[in-house]
Amino acid sequence: MTEMSYLDGNMLDGPMRELFTVDLSSAVGRCESCGMTGSMASLHVYSHAPGLVARCPSCEAVMMRLVRGPDRAWLDLRGTTFLQFPMPMEQPFPGPL
Ligand SMILES: [Zn+2]
Repeated sequence: MTEMSYLDGNMLDGPMRELFTVDLSSAVGRCESCGMTGSMASLHVYSHAPGLVARCPSCEAVMMRLVRGPDRAWLDLRGTTFLQFPMPMEQPFPGPL
């Protein structure tokens, strides 16, 4: 039996840093509740909560919560099946090892 090799979570820093520096308004997300796919810009964002709450424009299910504290932030994507980001061709993600 061969042992599956893996890298620790530190290797995610580069790819995640690349993701979160793109213009998120052009990202596309899919609602886990109703399956609607649309741009981040189309979400209905409510800012009168302790953080920001983004809801699906079709079914009003919560797709994203973002809370910013003094020295950290919490991003909760429960309700979002996926986010798709347009990426430059020159910096593709590394493939499987
Ligand atoms: Zn929905």
